[in-house]
Amino acid sequence: MDKWNTRTKLVHEGTRRSQYGELSEAIYLTQGFVYPNAESAQERFEALGDDEFIYARYGNPTVAMFEDRIAALEGAEAAFATASGMAAVNGALFALLEAGDHIVAAKALFGSCLFIVENLLPKYGVEVSFVDGKNLGEWESALRPNTKVCFFETLSNPTLEAVDIAGVAALAHKVGAKVVVDNVFATPIFQRALTLGADVIIYSATKHIDGQGRCLGGVVLGDTDFIRGPLETYLKHTGGALSPFNAWVMLKGLETLDLRVRAQAGSALKIAKALEGNDNTERVIYPGLESYPQNSLVGAQMEAGGTVVSIDLKGGKDAAFRFINALEIVLISNNLGDAKSIVTHPATTTHQRLSQDQLADLGISDGLVRLSVGLEDSDDLLADITQALIFATS
Ligand SMILES: *Cc1c(COP(=O)(O)O)cnc(C)c1O
Repeated sequence: MDKWNTRTKLVHEGTRRSQYGELSEAIYLTQGFVYPNAESAQERFEALGDDEFIYARYGNPTVAMFEDRIAALEGAEAAFATASGMAAVNGALFALLEAGDHIVAAKALFGSCLFIVENLLPKYGVEVSFVDGKNLGEWESALRPNTKVCFFETLSNPTLEAVDIAGVAALAHKVGAKVVVDNVFATPIFQRALTLGADVIIYSATKHIDGQGRCLGGVVLGDTDFIRGPLETYLKHTGGALSPFNAWVMLKGLETLDLRVRAQAGSALKIAKALEGNDNTERVIYPGLESYPQNSLVGAQMEAGGTVVSIDLKGGKDAAFRFINALEIVLISNNLGDAKSIVTHPATTTHQRLSQDQLADLGISDGLVRLSVGLEDSDDLLADITQALIFATS
């Protein structure tokens, strides 16, 4: 099926039809599986074949369809689906690291990812270094002989900074470290991290892959040795499995993923361009805008700038709150990648846990708002945002 292009893969890859020949993928809402006799139960436990299942914590046909479809999209050898994005991050890092190992991570991390790296890993004897992800020199000098993982998000949340995947991979591989990329903000449509040299990719499927705010889910992708080896062993015994129902929602989400994120990114670019230079904005951040500092890097590793625009408003928190409260279409929430446009004030919500110093260091000012651009008509969105900006100053 490698000859097929992305949209075809997203509609057809991974489908397993039952004897009834259903058109839409079936939801196998079952925890367990039955065996015709005791001998075959023994055989199943001894050697699981490709299409065989014994317990839904280990695998399930609907979950396997989702795993196979997203693996085909990424060009990955294998995938393991998880109950949430955080189960995926936790699974990948704990499967790769042990006491005495060292991890280098970009400091601009999603809050719960930061908790795992900063608070949990050291409890189990893993040494941690944080670097400015933009700066290849910092990655290079942080690496040690016992570095096993380099971990980062690109684009980062909420300031949309990019990390040079190929650059970090070249450095990491010299010391034998694996590169683990949280590719949520870039989406599998716009950035193929494996092709660029990453070893493991993680998604919160809760975001663009569902894309309609219904289910939590996640997935880890990589080579068969890692996914079917330490990763699956860790996850199947620790209970992070994706429910078959949620897997079905994600599977159907993949069918429209390409169409949705392209439409959302198109609107995001249009909105970013229109807002740049608006009297009430200090700075508009969107990869691909001429003012975006890492344009040559994102041009090389991303096909489009993504679905999020971050706007630093003049007038700090008061201006940001007035703007947010004046929006009519755009909803106040903390999800992203959704069909519905969403606005977030990171400093007081998603990044509230960080100190003033950390916020300043990451460029998360009081005036910064994160706009996740949805599937609404882009003229309507622009009109809504423009009218709300007038309130920001008063
Ligand atoms: C949301 C998110 C996660 C966590 O995913 P959940 O599905 O909420 O567990 C991890 N990384 C990034 C970049 C995210 O945006």
